[in-house]
Amino acid sequence: MLNSGMVDKFRRWIEVSDKIVLTCHVRPDGDAIGSTLGMMHLLQSLGKRANVVVPDQPPRSLAFLPGFKDICIYTRHEEYSRRLMSEADLIICSDFNKLSRQDHLAGLTEAATAKKVMVDHHQAPDDFCDLSFSYPDMSSASELMFRIIAAMGCYTEMNIDSATCICTGIITDTRNFSVNCKNPDLYEVLMRLLEKGVDKTKIVKEALLTQSLSSLKLKAYALSQKMEIFERWHGAVTTLDGEELKRFNYERGDTEGLVNEPLNVQGIYYSFFLREDEDCVKVSARSINDFPVSKICEDLYGGGGHLMAAGAEFKGSLEDCRRILIDALPNYLKYLPARPKKVE
Ligand code: MN
Repeated sequence: MLNSGMVDKFRRWIEVSDKIVLTCHVRPDGDAIGSTLGMMHLLQSLGKRANVVVPDQPPRSLAFLPGFKDICIYTRHEEYSRRLMSEADLIICSDFNKLSRQDHLAGLTEAATAKKVMVDHHQAPDDFCDLSFSYPDMSSASELMFRIIAAMGCYTEMNIDSATCICTGIITDTRNFSVNCKNPDLYEVLMRLLEKGVDKTKIVKEALLTQSLSSLKLKAYALSQKMEIFERWHGAVTTLDGEELKRFNYERGDTEGLVNEPLNVQGIYYSFFLREDEDCVKVSARSINDFPVSKICEDLYGGGGHLMAAGAEFKGSLEDCRRILIDALPNYLKYLPARPKKVE
């Protein structure tokens, strides 16, 4: 499945490198952190000096991962990040395929003289690496990282710390094997990780299920008080303003997953969540049955994304943002199934 010439080249570059940096995208998620830390542990067991440098603070839900507290966070340790990046012989760019996805760290990656290797699973990669493993069919960068490690013949050297991080990346990107998990081979990867002693139950609990009490209450409030259901239009719109966010001590990530909740109701085909931010309204949209929320985000707010998972930033008031959406929704009813299910 992997190109063996590329794997050999990567392996040789690792062999001749002493200082290796692993890096990922801004607002790093379980896959970004899992794939970089997973490879870091492997490289350390091969005797390399390996460090993970990330653009900004990773979520607390990943703090259980071995090596988490040694991650160098650019927004906190700018000088140290600069040194690690400029002194590196090899930089592994995981879970992103455009420098702009690194935000303020992009300049350091670009300026670094190290050889760069991309390990990624997003569509349409940019050409900024010397070697690019780009496999959009993979569930996660972590799955791809595992396959590269195995293809290099390093499965034996993989320890439980490495396996735990890699497994976390796969579990978070597939939401515990409920999306992007059609490929039967993925379960062989899972089997190989479990054989290393990985505690899957703990990973699911820590990385996917655990949330703060205020986050749970904020989501419960949003769904019970602020979700509008448009039965005839088969959609849901949920809004939260700045005052409400403050009341529930909102922190970044607290409304994660909220936009998906209305889609669990039969007859609801799309869901919008509008959150008042400091200088804009953050719009996020999800749908089922190929209802094109990306088109709505683009038409109304100049945003975009995937067909069924899209977003935008609206410069204006929350109420204007909501009004524009509600007024426009009837124009998109043609994208619903011919006989949509009743909302109930
Ligand atoms: Mn990913």
